[in-house]
Amino acid sequence: MTDWSDIADKISATITLLKQTSGLVKDVAPLVQNSEAKAKLSEVREQLLDASERVNDLRAVNNEIVDRNLQLEGEIREIKSFLSKKDSYVPYRLERGAFVYVAENSPDGPEKAPWYCQHCFEVEHRLSPMNYRKEAEGRSAVYACQSCKAETVDYGRSYYDGK
Ligand SMILES: [Zn+2]
Repeated sequence: MTDWSDIADKISATITLLKQTSGLVKDVAPLVQNSEAKAKLSEVREQLLDASERVNDLRAVNNEIVDRNLQLEGEIREIKSFLSKKDSYVPYRLERGAFVYVAENSPDGPEKAPWYCQHCFEVEHRLSPMNYRKEAEGRSAVYACQSCKAETVDYGRSYYDGK
């Protein structure tokens, strides 16, 4: 596996080296009398400046890669954790065909168990609770996912006797 801190160290070392080289060029400049040599030295100075800018760009890119890598590692951990418990959840069919996920063998049955969003479960690979949001027409209830905001209408569980 790539050691990211090692890359950051190498970039820092390169920046230090470029600064030291610039210092040497500055020290040498007053000693140079020949005009052609002076012109060449000025070119060297410009190229050192250019190299420093490029290395600073590399450092910024490296920092982005490190951040992205940390973020992806976090997502992988979440997905692995989800996959390890995924099989203990089953789809539960509501009236008129909408689905939510519930823990298999919930002590109070799937109707009273916490409901989880179908989209988040199947597509995002995470358990996102569906919470009661509002009453809907015909004494039915609307449930909404906390994460993706998807809504599910439960025609069988009314606001009055279901919560
Ligand atoms: Zn969702």
